[in-house]
Amino acid sequence: MARVIESVVGHQNEISQLFQLKQAGRWPHAVMFVGPSGIGKMKMALAFAQVLVCDESPEACGLCGACIRIEKQQSESLTVIKPDPELTRPVIKVEKIRDLLDSLSLSSMGSARVVIIDQAQTMNPQASNALLKTLEEPSENIFFILITNDVHQFLPTIRSRTQVVRFTALTYDEVKKIKPALPDWTYRSCRGQIDRLELLSSPEGKAQREEALTFFDQFCSDENFLLDKTWKDSVKDRSWAQFSINCWLQMSRDAIILKTQAQKFILNTDQSERLKQLYSLSANKLGWLCQHLIAAERDINANADTSLVFENLWIQYARVD
Ligand SMILES: [Zn+2]
Repeated sequence: MARVIESVVGHQNEISQLFQLKQAGRWPHAVMFVGPSGIGKMKMALAFAQVLVCDESPEACGLCGACIRIEKQQSESLTVIKPDPELTRPVIKVEKIRDLLDSLSLSSMGSARVVIIDQAQTMNPQASNALLKTLEEPSENIFFILITNDVHQFLPTIRSRTQVVRFTALTYDEVKKIKPALPDWTYRSCRGQIDRLELLSSPEGKAQREEALTFFDQFCSDENFLLDKTWKDSVKDRSWAQFSINCWLQMSRDAIILKTQAQKFILNTDQSERLKQLYSLSANKLGWLCQHLIAAERDINANADTSLVFENLWIQYARVD
């Protein structure tokens, strides 16, 4: 039993900003926690659910029944909604939101209730509209915390009804504090995200990265890259394509850094052989790669045809000096 806030690593500015809102009696009926995945937004939401529900202390006591039940996520004052995991593309359907609204209308007046909607951007349009009606007519003691990694996927009407709080990725030291004793390159390459760190440090993640880097070797050196069918099949898996592009981008970035002699900023500290090869490319070509890999990442996120993205990238890359 404890105050959840004490187990949060990092985000000190956001925490004090939120406490100030609470203390000033200006806690909004709906907040949106925005930031990359794997940085502790859910933990923050649970921490502030304690703060909103605890009657013993304005900063949550961590000891009373209400606080303990929130921590265990077994509280009648707390509802956590997540997308259905079994679907290929996660989605929060309207039925879930309707059930939630029914239960809220039945709940006793007076005591605070907190609703956390995780990956709230996966609400389908009907679900968003159902929620919107409630956000437009907020009840006194019902507090919504929407969690998302992409604020742009919401209807503007939803965004305008919530107070957005932005969280940034964790620092190297914060990540290391949460998951100690992992290889140095995993801390550097995880972009401050624990979910990414867990993937990269798992045997499966290491194998995936090796595969992505071998694919990059092929991209850089195979004159018949376009004729190869194997990679075209593999990039049909969009998340694999995203993962690969990101590995390539980090390697290209590292090679540029090597040219500036700032070794301590290298991310892929275990890849000196490959980096040596990339180093032999011109600064112009490496700069081009970084710029166009970022664009490719954006295109793939925006549902572009993945094989076309890689094909175009290679055709243009082959022409750059
Ligand atoms: Zn308490």
